[in-house]
Amino acid sequence: MEQKNFPPIADILIVDDTPENLRLLSVMLAQEGYKVRQAINGTIALNAVRRMAPDLILLDIMMPEIDGYEVCLALKADPQTTNIPVIFLSALDDIVDKVKAFSVGGVDFINKPFQVQEVLIRVKSQLELKTAKQKILQLNAELEKRVQQRTQELEIANAQLKKMAMQDPLTELPNRVFFMQQLKHLLLELHECQQRKFALLFLDCDRFKVINDSLGHPIGDELLISLARHLQAFLKPTDTLARLGGDEFAMLIADIESIEDAIDVAKTILDSFNQPFKIQGREIFLSASIGMAKATPDYTQPEYLLRDADSAMYRAKALGKSRYHIFDPSLHEEALSFFQVETDLRRAIAREEFTVYYQPIIALSSGKIAGFEALVRWQHPTRGLLSPNFFISIAEETGAIAAIGSSVLARACQQLRQWQERGLGTSTLSINVNLSVRQFASKDLLERIDLAIADACLDPCCLKLEITESVIMDNQRASRVLQQLRDRRIKICLDDFGTGYSSLNYLHRFPLNTLKIDKSFIGSWNNSSSSLGLVPVIINIARTMGLDTVAEGIETREQLERLKNLDCDFGQGYFFSRPLNATQATELLESSPQWD
Ligand code: C2E
Ligand code: MG
Ligand code: MG
Repeated sequence: MEQKNFPPIADILIVDDTPENLRLLSVMLAQEGYKVRQAINGTIALNAVRRMAPDLILLDIMMPEIDGYEVCLALKADPQTTNIPVIFLSALDDIVDKVKAFSVGGVDFINKPFQVQEVLIRVKSQLELKTAKQKILQLNAELEKRVQQRTQELEIANAQLKKMAMQDPLTELPNRVFFMQQLKHLLLELHECQQRKFALLFLDCDRFKVINDSLGHPIGDELLISLARHLQAFLKPTDTLARLGGDEFAMLIADIESIEDAIDVAKTILDSFNQPFKIQGREIFLSASIGMAKATPDYTQPEYLLRDADSAMYRAKALGKSRYHIFDPSLHEEALSFFQVETDLRRAIAREEFTVYYQPIIALSSGKIAGFEALVRWQHPTRGLLSPNFFISIAEETGAIAAIGSSVLARACQQLRQWQERGLGTSTLSINVNLSVRQFASKDLLERIDLAIADACLDPCCLKLEITESVIMDNQRASRVLQQLRDRRIKICLDDFGTGYSSLNYLHRFPLNTLKIDKSFIGSWNNSSSSLGLVPVIINIARTMGLDTVAEGIETREQLERLKNLDCDFGQGYFFSRPLNATQATELLESSPQWD
């Protein structure tokens, strides 16, 4: 049901020095239901109004002492009473008087002697006008209030948006955008005042993907949050820590005396990883690689400093991870290329810029070629032929290794099949293919291998996969995968033996066929020295375990003779041949070489 709002009874003040008028008007208005007050002169009227403001005033003009105009002016001058409508009642009939009545603030003018009906209708219409005005004022006030509320809401939303644009939602640390702003700011300060030295630390977790894959992303996320708090503890309030994305964090170490101050921070952080993180009742060990770059006025753009710290971080990874590396400005050229490698790699895969080289492996007893090791090369459009040392670790980090590795494996299998079909080499001619940690860990490893073998119609026993110790150590399912490879009669070589964990006593746990002694052992033999170092021991133990041995990096006849004396089975190195492209390798095979 619609609800009707009855207006409150209007309060009208009549001011007139003629008692007869006062009485008449009072009776008339009271009959209409108005509340009426009376004033016999201006002073009384003003007092009455100040005591309680009426809704409307009927005001006579000609009165002793203060006339109606003055009363009206006084009312209009007071903010408390300025809005009370005043209707003049007067016998003055001159147009000048009427104009004056309006100019002092009156809203209407009624001539005396008045008609009752006229007074009533004018009073009513003025009261309605007043109510309407009040309504408008009230609506305006409400509108104003709503606008204020909205503005406040908008301001809060804006602040939140701004925060979101500057903050990493997971760790609540500043994000890359904020970090770059801060970096830009510090760099400007450095340009203005060379004293304000600072350094940038770029931290990337080692093998974080393994944690995510094995323990699940929720634990990975919690670990990142803990790591963020952990790192914060090593910084001064003036330093800045940000999460750049994934498992990458960056730090601005402000107000340093020299790079040593930043090194101290990096060292303390790396040392702190001796202690595990406790996540959901588990203990998780983490390690990280840190790249460092010192800000100098030579840096014109903040991005360049970040880039250099980033490439120093990559270098720390390439040098074995869990360490820091300081960017060396004299290696700027190299760093630039490092930075570009990642982008270039992606293009290289699409454009098939990778080729496979083959280095012969010689059976030392016969001096004949027993097989080849497939070694990938990158035919870079501007840099020429690039060694895998230059790009494999980056391909590993970015995942590009999967595509590169599959292509090397397929091509190597095809190549061996071609040689076999042409009757080149011995009947047991084999091909060695390197597998990186990440390739070995990939779920579709066996599928890819099966496919490569099937496509090339190859006997699986001719394929030898080279893995490093870190593959076995890092991967719990290694043993199972190795067994599955053995079931297929595929052979396994442990590559670069002696450079990693160098532990012979766990070898028996894995189904291996061959041990490749790292070239550093052979290279460290100089002509005068009679010491053979660990090589005889390694060969002996390998033999008792039923493993073949291959010596890498044979460069001289002396080295070859020594290895033959130690009964090493196979050898590989520049002494026999450098890695060759497919055509050269075919020619070598066709010439049936023999080294004795
Ligand atoms: P690796 O498997 O130990 O390969 C032997 C490396 O020693 C090759 O380097 C080879 O050119 C080099 N070498 C051979 N004989 C001599 C010698 O007499 N003296 C010296 N100083 N070096 C010799 P390369 O081709 O630069 O490959 C470097 C590493 O890159 C390889 O070491 C291997 O770990 C990796 N790699 C190569 N191709 C592939 C691939 O297709 N996939 C994967 N995952 N890694 C690969
Ligand atoms: Mg190898
Ligand atoms: Mg090797």
